[in-house]
Amino acid sequence: MSELGSAFFASVAPTPLPQPHWVAHSLPLARELGLDEEWLRSEDALQTLTGNRVPDGTHTRASVYSGHQFGNWAGQLGDGRALMLGELDTPHGTREIQLKGAGLTPFSRMGDGRAVLRSSIREFLCSEAMHALGIPTTRALCITGSPQPVRRENVETAAVVTRTAPSFIRFGHFEHFSYGGQHDELSRLADHVIDRFYPDCRAAANPYAALLQAVSERTAHLMAQWQAVGFCHGVMNTDNMSILGLTLDYGPFQFMDGFNPDHICNHTDTGGRYAYNRQPQVAYWNLFCLGQALLPLIGEPDDAMAALESYKTVFPAALTQRMAAKLGLSGDHPHAKTLVDSTLNLLAAERTDYPLFWHQFSGWLAHPEQPTLLQDLFVDRDRFTTWLAQYQEHTNQYHQAPDANLASKSNPKYVLRNHLAQTTIAQAEQGDVAMVGELLTVLHTPFNEHPAFESWAALPPDWAAHIEISCSS
Ligand code: AMP
Ligand code: MG
Repeated sequence: MSELGSAFFASVAPTPLPQPHWVAHSLPLARELGLDEEWLRSEDALQTLTGNRVPDGTHTRASVYSGHQFGNWAGQLGDGRALMLGELDTPHGTREIQLKGAGLTPFSRMGDGRAVLRSSIREFLCSEAMHALGIPTTRALCITGSPQPVRRENVETAAVVTRTAPSFIRFGHFEHFSYGGQHDELSRLADHVIDRFYPDCRAAANPYAALLQAVSERTAHLMAQWQAVGFCHGVMNTDNMSILGLTLDYGPFQFMDGFNPDHICNHTDTGGRYAYNRQPQVAYWNLFCLGQALLPLIGEPDDAMAALESYKTVFPAALTQRMAAKLGLSGDHPHAKTLVDSTLNLLAAERTDYPLFWHQFSGWLAHPEQPTLLQDLFVDRDRFTTWLAQYQEHTNQYHQAPDANLASKSNPKYVLRNHLAQTTIAQAEQGDVAMVGELLTVLHTPFNEHPAFESWAALPPDWAAHIEISCSS
Protein backbone atom coordinates (compact mmCIF):
# COMPACT_ATOMS: atom_id res chain seq x y z
CA MET A 1 0.00 0.00 0.00
CA SER A 2 2.98 2.28 0.52
CA GLU A 3 3.20 3.12 -3.20
CA LEU A 4 -0.21 4.82 -3.09
CA GLY A 5 1.32 8.08 -1.94
CA SER A 6 0.86 10.92 0.45
CA ALA A 7 -2.94 11.32 0.18
CA PHE A 8 -3.29 7.92 1.81
CA PHE A 9 -0.87 8.25 4.70
CA ALA A 10 0.61 10.53 7.27
CA SER A 11 4.25 9.95 8.09
CA VAL A 12 4.51 9.54 11.81
CA ALA A 13 7.12 8.05 14.08
CA PRO A 14 6.17 5.64 16.84
CA THR A 15 6.20 7.02 20.38
CA PRO A 16 8.60 4.99 22.51
CA LEU A 17 7.44 2.97 25.50
CA PRO A 18 9.59 2.51 28.59
CA GLN A 19 11.06 -0.83 29.71
CA PRO A 20 9.55 -3.09 27.07
CA HIS A 21 9.35 -6.84 27.64
CA TRP A 22 8.20 -9.80 25.58
CA VAL A 23 4.73 -11.14 26.20
CA ALA A 24 4.38 -13.67 23.37
CA HIS A 25 5.53 -14.74 19.92
CA SER A 26 3.85 -16.72 17.20
CA LEU A 27 6.71 -18.84 15.92
CA PRO A 28 4.62 -20.50 13.19
CA LEU A 29 3.94 -17.04 11.76
CA ALA A 30 7.59 -16.03 12.12
CA ARG A 31 8.49 -19.10 10.04
CA GLU A 32 5.88 -18.28 7.42
CA LEU A 33 7.26 -14.78 7.16
CA GLY A 34 10.77 -16.16 6.82
CA LEU A 35 11.94 -14.24 9.89
CA ASP A 36 15.00 -15.30 11.80
CA GLU A 37 13.73 -16.75 15.08
CA GLU A 38 16.89 -15.76 16.89
CA TRP A 39 16.39 -12.16 15.82
CA LEU A 40 12.79 -12.32 16.92
CA ARG A 41 13.97 -13.01 20.46
CA SER A 42 16.65 -10.32 20.40
CA GLU A 43 16.83 -6.95 22.10
CA ASP A 44 16.82 -5.34 18.65
CA ALA A 45 13.50 -7.01 17.81
CA LEU A 46 12.07 -6.09 21.20
CA GLN A 47 12.92 -2.41 20.74
CA THR A 48 11.90 -2.35 17.06
CA LEU A 49 8.57 -4.09 17.56
CA THR A 50 7.71 -1.85 20.50
CA GLY A 51 8.34 1.18 18.30
CA ASN A 52 11.38 2.32 20.25
CA ARG A 53 13.80 1.84 17.38
CA VAL A 54 12.97 2.49 13.74
CA PRO A 55 15.21 0.60 11.31
CA ASP A 56 17.22 2.77 8.90
CA GLY A 57 15.33 3.58 5.75
CA THR A 58 11.96 2.77 7.33
CA HIS A 59 9.19 5.36 7.09
CA THR A 60 6.43 4.53 9.53
CA ARG A 61 2.99 5.67 8.44
CA ALA A 62 -0.59 5.85 9.59
CA SER A 63 -3.28 5.56 6.95
CA VAL A 64 -6.45 7.62 6.75
CA TYR A 65 -9.90 6.10 6.38
CA SER A 66 -13.49 6.82 7.32
CA GLY A 67 -16.44 4.66 8.15
CA HIS A 68 -19.95 3.97 9.30
CA GLN A 69 -20.03 3.10 12.98
CA PHE A 70 -23.15 1.45 14.39
CA GLY A 71 -25.04 2.44 11.26
CA ASN A 72 -24.07 6.12 11.30
CA TRP A 73 -21.58 7.97 9.15
CA ALA A 74 -18.68 8.69 11.47
CA GLY A 75 -16.57 10.71 9.04
CA GLN A 76 -12.83 10.54 9.11
CA LEU A 77 -11.22 7.92 11.32
CA GLY A 78 -7.88 6.43 10.33
CA ASP A 79 -5.12 4.51 12.03
CA GLY A 80 -5.34 6.16 15.41
CA ARG A 81 -2.82 3.87 17.00
CA ALA A 82 -1.54 1.54 14.29
CA LEU A 83 1.58 2.32 12.32
CA MET A 84 2.69 0.60 9.18
CA LEU A 85 6.29 -0.37 9.73
CA GLY A 86 6.82 -1.60 6.20
CA GLU A 87 6.24 -4.40 3.78
CA LEU A 88 8.00 -7.73 3.84
CA ASP A 89 8.50 -10.01 0.86
CA THR A 90 7.76 -13.49 2.12
CA PRO A 91 7.52 -16.89 0.43
CA HIS A 92 3.72 -16.43 0.65
CA GLY A 93 3.66 -12.95 -0.87
CA THR A 94 4.06 -9.43 0.39
CA ARG A 95 2.96 -8.76 3.94
CA GLU A 96 2.32 -5.39 5.54
CA ILE A 97 3.69 -5.14 9.05
CA GLN A 98 1.82 -2.96 11.52
CA LEU A 99 2.51 -1.97 15.10
CA LYS A 100 -0.80 -1.55 16.92
CA GLY A 101 -0.59 0.62 20.02
CA ALA A 102 2.57 2.48 18.93
CA GLY A 103 1.44 5.97 19.88
CA LEU A 104 -0.50 8.97 18.71
CA THR A 105 -1.11 9.65 15.03
CA PRO A 106 -2.91 12.53 13.31
CA PHE A 107 -5.98 10.23 13.33
CA SER A 108 -6.06 9.45 17.04
CA ARG A 109 -9.07 11.72 17.66
CA MET A 110 -9.76 11.51 21.41
CA GLY A 111 -7.61 8.41 21.90
CA ASP A 112 -4.18 8.08 23.41
CA GLY A 113 -2.64 6.03 20.61
CA ARG A 114 -2.12 3.09 22.93
CA ALA A 115 -3.45 -0.43 23.25
CA VAL A 116 -3.68 -2.15 26.62
CA LEU A 117 -2.19 -5.54 27.44
CA ARG A 118 -5.69 -7.03 27.87
CA SER A 119 -6.93 -6.21 24.37
CA SER A 120 -3.55 -6.96 22.82
CA ILE A 121 -3.62 -10.50 24.22
CA ARG A 122 -7.15 -10.95 22.87
CA GLU A 123 -6.18 -9.75 19.39
CA PHE A 124 -2.97 -11.76 19.32
CA LEU A 125 -4.55 -15.05 20.42
CA CYS A 126 -7.68 -14.69 18.34
CA SER A 127 -5.87 -13.80 15.10
CA GLU A 128 -3.74 -16.89 15.43
CA ALA A 129 -6.69 -19.04 16.51
CA MET A 130 -8.78 -17.96 13.54
CA HIS A 131 -5.96 -18.71 11.15
CA ALA A 132 -5.57 -22.19 12.60
CA LEU A 133 -9.32 -22.73 12.16
CA GLY A 134 -8.88 -21.95 8.47
CA ILE A 135 -10.73 -18.62 8.73
CA PRO A 136 -9.25 -15.71 6.77
CA THR A 137 -7.75 -13.19 9.16
CA THR A 138 -4.98 -10.72 9.77
CA ARG A 139 -2.19 -12.40 11.74
CA ALA A 140 -0.28 -11.47 14.87
CA LEU A 141 3.44 -12.02 15.22
CA CYS A 142 4.10 -10.91 18.78
CA ILE A 143 3.15 -8.76 21.72
CA THR A 144 5.48 -6.58 23.70
CA GLY A 145 4.41 -5.03 26.98
CA SER A 146 5.49 -2.02 28.97
CA PRO A 147 4.78 -0.86 32.52
CA GLN A 148 3.52 2.47 31.13
CA PRO A 149 0.08 3.12 32.61
CA VAL A 150 -2.83 3.50 30.20
CA ARG A 151 -6.18 4.77 31.41
CA ARG A 152 -9.33 2.92 30.33
CA GLU A 153 -12.17 2.14 32.79
CA ASN A 154 -9.28 1.27 35.07
CA VAL A 155 -5.61 2.02 34.82
CA GLU A 156 -3.98 -0.75 32.78
CA THR A 157 -0.59 -1.09 31.08
CA ALA A 158 0.49 -0.55 27.49
CA ALA A 159 1.31 -3.19 24.91
CA VAL A 160 2.04 -3.32 21.20
CA VAL A 161 0.87 -6.05 18.84
CA THR A 162 2.82 -6.61 15.66
CA ARG A 163 0.28 -7.70 13.11
CA THR A 164 0.55 -8.63 9.46
CA ALA A 165 -1.73 -8.99 6.46
CA PRO A 166 -1.37 -8.86 2.70
CA SER A 167 -3.21 -5.55 3.15
CA PHE A 168 -5.03 -3.71 5.91
CA ILE A 169 -7.19 -1.80 3.42
CA ARG A 170 -10.75 -1.48 4.72
CA PHE A 171 -14.13 -0.62 3.21
CA GLY A 172 -13.65 2.65 5.09
CA HIS A 173 -10.67 3.61 2.92
CA PHE A 174 -12.96 3.64 -0.11
CA GLU A 175 -15.64 5.53 1.77
CA HIS A 176 -13.09 8.12 2.80
CA PHE A 177 -12.01 9.10 -0.70
CA SER A 178 -15.45 8.70 -2.21
CA TYR A 179 -17.39 10.84 0.23
CA GLY A 180 -14.56 13.37 0.37
CA GLY A 181 -14.93 13.84 -3.39
CA GLN A 182 -11.34 12.67 -3.98
CA HIS A 183 -12.21 10.52 -6.95
CA ASP A 184 -8.70 10.38 -8.41
CA GLU A 185 -7.50 8.89 -5.15
CA LEU A 186 -10.53 6.60 -5.08
CA SER A 187 -9.67 5.20 -8.48
CA ARG A 188 -6.00 4.90 -7.57
CA LEU A 189 -6.99 2.90 -4.51
CA ALA A 190 -9.38 0.67 -6.45
CA ASP A 191 -6.81 0.06 -9.20
CA HIS A 192 -4.22 -0.82 -6.60
CA VAL A 193 -6.54 -3.33 -4.94
CA ILE A 194 -7.51 -4.85 -8.27
CA ASP A 195 -3.95 -5.10 -9.57
CA ARG A 196 -2.57 -6.52 -6.34
CA PHE A 197 -5.36 -8.72 -5.07
CA TYR A 198 -8.14 -9.16 -7.62
CA PRO A 199 -6.32 -9.24 -10.99
CA ASP A 200 -9.14 -11.23 -12.64
CA CYS A 201 -11.43 -8.21 -12.28
CA ARG A 202 -9.31 -6.25 -14.73
CA ALA A 203 -10.64 -8.29 -17.65
CA ALA A 204 -14.30 -7.66 -16.74
CA ALA A 205 -16.45 -5.21 -18.69
CA ASN A 206 -16.70 -3.10 -15.53
CA PRO A 207 -13.64 -3.89 -13.37
CA TYR A 208 -14.97 -1.90 -10.39
CA ALA A 209 -18.31 -3.70 -10.39
CA ALA A 210 -16.33 -6.93 -10.67
CA LEU A 211 -14.28 -5.85 -7.66
CA LEU A 212 -17.45 -5.21 -5.65
CA GLN A 213 -18.75 -8.63 -6.62
CA ALA A 214 -15.48 -10.34 -5.71
CA VAL A 215 -15.35 -8.61 -2.32
CA SER A 216 -19.01 -9.53 -1.74
CA GLU A 217 -18.23 -13.15 -2.42
CA ARG A 218 -15.20 -13.23 -0.15
CA THR A 219 -17.19 -11.52 2.58
CA ALA A 220 -20.02 -14.03 2.13
CA HIS A 221 -17.58 -16.90 2.64
CA LEU A 222 -16.10 -15.19 5.68
CA MET A 223 -19.55 -14.73 7.23
CA ALA A 224 -20.38 -18.38 6.63
CA GLN A 225 -17.21 -19.35 8.47
CA TRP A 226 -17.87 -17.00 11.38
CA GLN A 227 -21.42 -18.27 11.78
CA ALA A 228 -20.39 -21.91 11.56
CA VAL A 229 -17.70 -21.62 14.23
CA GLY A 230 -19.93 -19.44 16.46
CA PHE A 231 -17.74 -16.35 16.20
CA CYS A 232 -19.21 -12.95 17.00
CA HIS A 233 -17.07 -10.01 15.89
CA GLY A 234 -18.81 -7.41 18.02
CA VAL A 235 -18.02 -4.22 16.05
CA MET A 236 -18.75 -4.75 12.37
CA ASN A 237 -18.38 -1.10 11.45
CA THR A 238 -17.36 -0.46 7.84
CA ASP A 239 -13.92 0.63 9.03
CA ASN A 240 -13.44 -2.84 10.49
CA MET A 241 -14.28 -4.64 7.22
CA SER A 242 -11.32 -5.87 5.20
CA ILE A 243 -11.32 -5.43 1.44
CA LEU A 244 -9.68 -8.87 1.30
CA GLY A 245 -12.43 -10.57 3.31
CA LEU A 246 -10.19 -11.05 6.34
CA THR A 247 -11.31 -10.94 9.95
CA LEU A 248 -9.94 -7.59 11.07
CA ASP A 249 -9.70 -5.55 14.29
CA TYR A 250 -10.35 -7.85 17.18
CA GLY A 251 -12.18 -5.96 19.90
CA PRO A 252 -15.14 -7.25 21.92
CA PHE A 253 -15.36 -10.50 19.91
CA GLN A 254 -16.53 -13.80 21.35
CA PHE A 255 -16.75 -17.44 20.46
CA MET A 256 -20.19 -18.31 21.73
CA ASP A 257 -20.43 -20.75 24.62
CA GLY A 258 -24.15 -21.60 24.94
CA PHE A 259 -25.89 -21.28 21.57
CA ASN A 260 -28.11 -18.23 21.45
CA PRO A 261 -28.86 -16.86 17.99
CA ASP A 262 -29.52 -13.40 19.48
CA HIS A 263 -26.26 -13.34 21.39
CA ILE A 264 -24.64 -9.90 21.73
CA CYS A 265 -20.99 -10.12 22.70
CA ASN A 266 -20.25 -6.40 22.86
CA HIS A 267 -21.49 -4.90 26.09
CA THR A 268 -21.53 -1.46 24.42
CA ASP A 269 -23.89 -2.69 21.66
CA THR A 270 -27.09 -2.22 23.62
CA GLY A 271 -29.30 -2.42 20.52
CA GLY A 272 -27.79 -5.69 19.37
CA ARG A 273 -26.89 -4.33 15.94
CA TYR A 274 -23.99 -6.77 15.84
CA ALA A 275 -25.69 -9.75 17.45
CA TYR A 276 -24.57 -13.17 16.19
CA ASN A 277 -27.59 -13.76 13.95
CA ARG A 278 -27.40 -10.26 12.47
CA GLN A 279 -23.79 -10.52 11.29
CA PRO A 280 -24.62 -11.80 7.79
CA GLN A 281 -27.10 -8.95 7.17
CA VAL A 282 -24.74 -6.37 8.60
CA ALA A 283 -22.03 -7.61 6.26
CA TYR A 284 -24.42 -7.02 3.38
CA TRP A 285 -25.24 -3.55 4.73
CA ASN A 286 -21.51 -2.82 4.86
CA LEU A 287 -21.04 -4.11 1.32
CA PHE A 288 -23.83 -1.78 0.26
CA CYS A 289 -21.80 1.12 1.74
CA LEU A 290 -18.79 -0.09 -0.19
CA GLY A 291 -20.92 -0.22 -3.33
CA GLN A 292 -22.05 3.34 -2.75
CA ALA A 293 -18.46 4.42 -2.23
CA LEU A 294 -17.46 2.75 -5.51
CA LEU A 295 -20.34 4.31 -7.49
CA PRO A 296 -18.23 7.11 -9.00
CA LEU A 297 -16.11 4.36 -10.57
CA ILE A 298 -18.83 1.80 -11.29
CA GLY A 299 -21.13 4.32 -12.98
CA GLU A 300 -24.59 2.78 -13.04
CA PRO A 301 -26.24 2.06 -9.66
CA ASP A 302 -27.83 -1.00 -11.27
CA ASP A 303 -24.39 -2.44 -11.94
CA ALA A 304 -23.45 -1.97 -8.30
CA MET A 305 -26.69 -3.59 -7.15
CA ALA A 306 -26.13 -6.49 -9.52
CA ALA A 307 -22.63 -7.00 -8.11
CA LEU A 308 -24.04 -7.08 -4.57
CA GLU A 309 -26.67 -9.64 -5.56
CA SER A 310 -24.03 -12.35 -5.54
CA TYR A 311 -23.89 -12.10 -1.73
CA LYS A 312 -27.49 -13.27 -1.50
CA THR A 313 -26.73 -16.55 -3.21
CA VAL A 314 -23.13 -17.15 -2.14
CA PHE A 315 -23.70 -16.60 1.58
CA PRO A 316 -26.60 -19.04 2.11
CA ALA A 317 -24.94 -21.70 0.00
CA ALA A 318 -21.63 -21.27 1.83
CA LEU A 319 -23.38 -21.33 5.19
CA THR A 320 -25.30 -24.50 4.38
CA GLN A 321 -22.10 -26.11 3.16
CA ARG A 322 -20.15 -25.16 6.32
CA MET A 323 -22.95 -26.20 8.67
CA ALA A 324 -23.67 -29.42 6.79
CA ALA A 325 -19.96 -30.28 7.03
CA LYS A 326 -20.26 -30.04 10.81
CA LEU A 327 -22.94 -32.72 10.54
CA GLY A 328 -20.66 -34.78 8.30
CA LEU A 329 -22.77 -34.00 5.23
CA SER A 330 -22.09 -32.34 1.93
CA GLY A 331 -23.90 -29.07 1.24
CA ASP A 332 -25.93 -30.69 -1.53
CA HIS A 333 -27.24 -33.50 0.65
CA PRO A 334 -31.01 -33.30 0.08
CA HIS A 335 -31.67 -33.00 3.81
CA ALA A 336 -28.74 -30.72 4.66
CA LYS A 337 -30.78 -27.58 5.21
CA THR A 338 -33.49 -29.37 7.21
CA LEU A 339 -30.95 -31.04 9.46
CA VAL A 340 -28.91 -27.89 9.98
CA ASP A 341 -32.05 -25.98 10.96
CA SER A 342 -33.28 -28.66 13.31
CA THR A 343 -29.85 -28.92 14.95
CA LEU A 344 -29.68 -25.18 15.56
CA ASN A 345 -33.22 -25.26 16.97
CA LEU A 346 -32.18 -28.08 19.27
CA LEU A 347 -29.15 -26.11 20.49
CA ALA A 348 -31.06 -22.85 20.89
CA ALA A 349 -33.78 -24.49 23.00
CA GLU A 350 -31.43 -25.02 25.94
CA ARG A 351 -28.57 -22.78 24.90
CA THR A 352 -26.47 -25.88 24.61
CA ASP A 353 -22.73 -25.28 24.60
CA TYR A 354 -21.88 -24.74 20.95
CA PRO A 355 -18.26 -25.92 20.63
CA LEU A 356 -18.76 -28.84 22.99
CA PHE A 357 -21.86 -30.09 21.21
CA TRP A 358 -20.17 -30.10 17.83
CA HIS A 359 -16.98 -31.67 19.03
CA GLN A 360 -18.86 -34.43 20.82
CA PHE A 361 -21.11 -34.92 17.84
CA SER A 362 -18.16 -35.53 15.56
CA GLY A 363 -16.71 -37.92 18.15
CA TRP A 364 -19.97 -39.85 18.19
CA LEU A 365 -20.12 -39.91 14.38
CA ALA A 366 -16.59 -41.34 14.20
CA HIS A 367 -17.28 -44.00 16.86
CA PRO A 368 -21.03 -44.54 17.22
CA GLU A 369 -20.38 -47.80 19.09
CA GLN A 370 -18.52 -46.04 21.91
CA PRO A 371 -20.20 -44.38 24.87
CA THR A 372 -20.80 -40.71 24.27
CA LEU A 373 -21.60 -37.80 26.54
CA LEU A 374 -23.55 -36.10 23.77
CA GLN A 375 -26.98 -36.69 25.30
CA ASP A 376 -25.72 -35.43 28.67
CA LEU A 377 -25.53 -31.95 27.19
CA PHE A 378 -29.36 -31.85 27.18
CA VAL A 379 -31.85 -31.62 29.98
CA ASP A 380 -34.72 -32.52 27.65
CA ARG A 381 -33.53 -35.98 26.59
CA ASP A 382 -36.65 -36.65 24.54
CA ARG A 383 -36.00 -33.64 22.39
CA PHE A 384 -32.41 -34.80 21.85
CA THR A 385 -33.46 -38.37 21.05
CA THR A 386 -36.05 -37.15 18.55
CA TRP A 387 -33.43 -34.98 16.88
CA LEU A 388 -30.93 -37.84 16.72
CA ALA A 389 -33.56 -40.17 15.25
CA GLN A 390 -34.32 -37.56 12.61
CA TYR A 391 -30.63 -37.26 11.77
CA GLN A 392 -30.28 -41.02 11.47
CA GLU A 393 -33.44 -41.41 9.42
CA HIS A 394 -32.54 -38.60 7.02
CA THR A 395 -29.00 -39.79 6.56
CA ASN A 396 -29.87 -43.51 6.29
CA GLN A 397 -32.29 -42.76 3.49
CA TYR A 398 -29.54 -41.40 1.37
CA HIS A 399 -26.91 -43.44 -0.43
CA GLN A 400 -24.06 -41.34 0.92
CA ALA A 401 -23.23 -42.09 4.56
CA PRO A 402 -22.22 -39.18 6.81
CA ASP A 403 -18.52 -38.49 6.61
CA ALA A 404 -17.05 -38.60 10.11
CA ASN A 405 -13.77 -37.24 8.87
CA LEU A 406 -15.45 -34.19 7.36
CA ALA A 407 -17.24 -33.59 10.66
CA SER A 408 -14.01 -33.85 12.70
CA LYS A 409 -12.28 -31.40 10.40
CA SER A 410 -15.20 -29.01 10.79
CA ASN A 411 -15.62 -29.16 14.57
CA PRO A 412 -12.64 -27.85 16.50
CA LYS A 413 -12.08 -29.05 20.02
CA TYR A 414 -10.53 -25.78 21.17
CA VAL A 415 -11.72 -22.24 20.55
CA LEU A 416 -10.70 -19.06 22.36
CA ARG A 417 -13.56 -18.94 24.81
CA ASN A 418 -13.99 -15.70 26.71
CA HIS A 419 -13.12 -17.18 30.07
CA LEU A 420 -9.86 -18.62 28.73
CA ALA A 421 -8.86 -15.21 27.42
CA GLN A 422 -9.90 -13.62 30.73
CA THR A 423 -7.87 -16.05 32.82
CA THR A 424 -4.84 -15.59 30.60
CA ILE A 425 -5.15 -11.82 30.82
CA ALA A 426 -5.53 -11.85 34.60
CA GLN A 427 -2.33 -13.90 34.93
CA ALA A 428 -0.44 -11.76 32.42
CA GLU A 429 -1.48 -8.63 34.27
CA GLN A 430 0.18 -10.16 37.34
CA GLY A 431 3.34 -10.71 35.31
CA ASP A 432 2.82 -14.39 34.49
CA VAL A 433 2.61 -14.78 30.72
CA ALA A 434 3.01 -18.57 30.57
CA MET A 435 -0.65 -19.18 29.75
CA VAL A 436 -0.49 -16.89 26.70
CA GLY A 437 2.08 -19.24 25.16
CA GLU A 438 0.26 -22.41 26.25
CA LEU A 439 -3.05 -21.21 24.89
CA LEU A 440 -1.39 -20.18 21.66
CA THR A 441 0.09 -23.66 21.24
CA VAL A 442 -3.30 -25.30 21.77
CA LEU A 443 -5.13 -22.83 19.52
CA HIS A 444 -2.58 -23.37 16.75
CA THR A 445 -3.79 -26.99 16.51
CA PRO A 446 -7.41 -26.69 17.64
CA PHE A 447 -8.57 -29.97 16.10
CA ASN A 448 -5.97 -32.02 17.98
CA GLU A 449 -6.10 -33.57 21.42
CA HIS A 450 -4.16 -31.74 24.12
CA PRO A 451 -4.57 -33.98 27.18
CA ALA A 452 -2.85 -31.53 29.52
CA PHE A 453 -5.42 -28.89 28.59
CA GLU A 454 -8.59 -30.95 28.54
CA SER A 455 -10.35 -28.45 30.80
CA TRP A 456 -10.01 -25.74 28.14
CA ALA A 457 -12.37 -27.73 25.93
CA ALA A 458 -14.89 -28.33 28.71
CA LEU A 459 -18.00 -26.40 29.67
CA PRO A 460 -17.09 -22.88 30.79
CA PRO A 461 -17.31 -22.01 34.48
CA ASP A 462 -20.45 -20.18 35.63
CA TRP A 463 -18.64 -16.86 35.89
CA ALA A 464 -18.02 -16.94 32.11
CA ALA A 465 -21.65 -15.96 31.53
CA HIS A 466 -21.08 -12.71 33.42
CA ILE A 467 -18.00 -11.51 31.56
CA GLU A 468 -18.68 -8.13 30.02
CA ILE A 469 -16.52 -7.14 27.08
CA SER A 470 -16.86 -3.59 25.78
CA CYS A 471 -15.28 -1.59 22.98
CA SER A 472 -12.62 -0.41 25.43
CA SER A 473 -9.27 -1.59 24.19
P1 AMP B 1 -11.86 0.54 16.74
O1 AMP B 1 -13.15 0.72 17.46
O2 AMP B 1 -10.74 -0.05 17.59
O3 AMP B 1 -11.98 -0.12 15.42
O4 AMP B 1 -11.34 2.02 16.47
C1 AMP B 1 -12.07 3.00 15.78
C2 AMP B 1 -11.14 4.12 15.46
O5 AMP B 1 -10.61 4.69 16.64
C3 AMP B 1 -9.95 3.74 14.63
O6 AMP B 1 -9.66 4.84 13.81
C4 AMP B 1 -8.87 3.52 15.65
O7 AMP B 1 -7.58 3.68 15.11
C5 AMP B 1 -9.19 4.60 16.66
N1 AMP B 1 -8.77 4.26 18.00
C6 AMP B 1 -9.27 3.31 18.80
N2 AMP B 1 -8.66 3.30 19.98
C7 AMP B 1 -7.73 4.28 19.95
C8 AMP B 1 -6.77 4.79 20.87
N3 AMP B 1 -6.64 4.28 22.08
N4 AMP B 1 -6.00 5.82 20.47
C9 AMP B 1 -6.13 6.35 19.24
N5 AMP B 1 -7.02 5.92 18.34
C10 AMP B 1 -7.81 4.90 18.68
MG1 MG C 1 -11.07 -0.62 13.95
